Amino acid sequence: AAPASAATSPGTLRRAADAPVEPLLSALKVRKSYGGVEVLKGISLAVNPGQVMCLLGPSGSGKSTFLRCINHLERIDGGRISVNGELVGYAQRRDRIFEMNPREVARQRRGIGMVFQRFNLFPHMTALENITAAPIGVRRISKQKAKERGLELLDRVGLANLAQSYPAQLSGGQQQRVAIARALAMDPKLLLFDEPTSALDPELVGDVLDVMRTLAADGMTMVVVTHEIGFARGAADVVVFMDGGVVVETGPPAVVLDNPQSARTKAFLDSVM
Ligand code: ADP
Ligand code: MG
Repeated sequence: AAPASAATSPGTLRRAADAPVEPLLSALKVRKSYGGVEVLKGISLAVNPGQVMCLLGPSGSGKSTFLRCINHLERIDGGRISVNGELVGYAQRRDRIFEMNPREVARQRRGIGMVFQRFNLFPHMTALENITAAPIGVRRISKQKAKERGLELLDRVGLANLAQSYPAQLSGGQQQRVAIARALAMDPKLLLFDEPTSALDPELVGDVLDVMRTLAADGMTMVVVTHEIGFARGAADVVVFMDGGVVVETGPPAVVLDNPQSARTKAFLDSVM
């Protein structure tokens, strides 16, 4: 290991090279109920900066609910979630914990991008306008700058020539890539994907997964709910198998996917592979 030497310049305190990494996302004993039915029964997970976590599990196991809790779309009933060292929805001052006000919540949400199964593009806006709307409207970036960045992002998802197309003129795979570019336009620290390829025709899945692989290789921190086992095997640092609102098994893909320890994980993998 590199020597844990300290300051490179006077007054600069650097973290020692072998100091423990702070997770970018951490969930501790997260609980969530709907009408008395508990759908998250104490979820504890952590994702380090630059890591990709793939979440697998049968329908109804709580995967979407968990993502929605991270992104303030649902409120948790117990436990805690933190992103980038901040509690989600709460602020700590001294020894007291306060609920965040709506402005703080909005600020926190801007750091988290989400890509849904249904791409949810604005139908009356072009691909480029879909991408630049939030940077211009929310982050107050100039139209010119937002447009330049938007074109860069479209290029990055392989759609540079379709900037002026409307969603209805694009294939599902192209729409989903626009949705990814739109999420990236807010410079998120964390990107959440909820079955991003499940609504696509099979021949369109590959292009979307390729974009996601590129993002992963570029160091984006991602949590991906997916049934694409091949993607999980190649791109995930950590695979989590959830069932019935609990984490059944978690580990590197080579273990969870190819040598699962739990009978429930095995049965699920047999059903999707
Ligand atoms: P998954 O994404 O793994 O398929 P979900 O998180 O969507 O699972 O759902 C987990 C459970 O919570 C399911 O039983 C679902 O019916 C229930 N659920 C999800 N959202 C709501 C809601 N808004 N109101 C009531 N029940 C819900
Ligand atoms: Mg779901």
